[in-house]
Amino acid sequence: MTDCLFCKIVAKEIPAEVVLETDRALAFRDINPQAPTHVLVIPKEHHADAAALAEADRGLADEVLKAAHAVAVQEGAAEGGYRIVFNTGAGAGQTVFHVHAHVLGGRDLTWPPG
Ligand code: IMP
Repeated sequence: MTDCLFCKIVAKEIPAEVVLETDRALAFRDINPQAPTHVLVIPKEHHADAAALAEADRGLADEVLKAAHAVAVQEGAAEGGYRIVFNTGAGAGQTVFHVHAHVLGGRDLTWPPG
């Protein structure tokens, strides 16, 4: 998708601090981190949100989830507990419409989120 921020990161037209890459997924640090570990994991292929991804390609959704867990382990956030969040839809706070898992950890996380 030509006008998608995260497609541009995949295409390396916009720089990002990549922490993990697989054939079909990319993980990079959030530009405005909300926790010591705050990484975004995306499929390289464009899907608007988690619902669209699950509908279109379960295998790719699985790869994104596995990459999210791998990031938490790699960042040392898995042991203390971490959170994987897919904001889905503007009403839930989604601002970039290329599906992404937020991987948050490295501090105590409160519930419910705001
Ligand atoms: P959303 O609100 O769930 O859609 O999350 C979008 C996330 O993308 C936010 O946490 C932003 O801080 C993050 N973000 C926006 N632009 C960039 C960028 O260029 N690089 C890395 N993260 C970004």
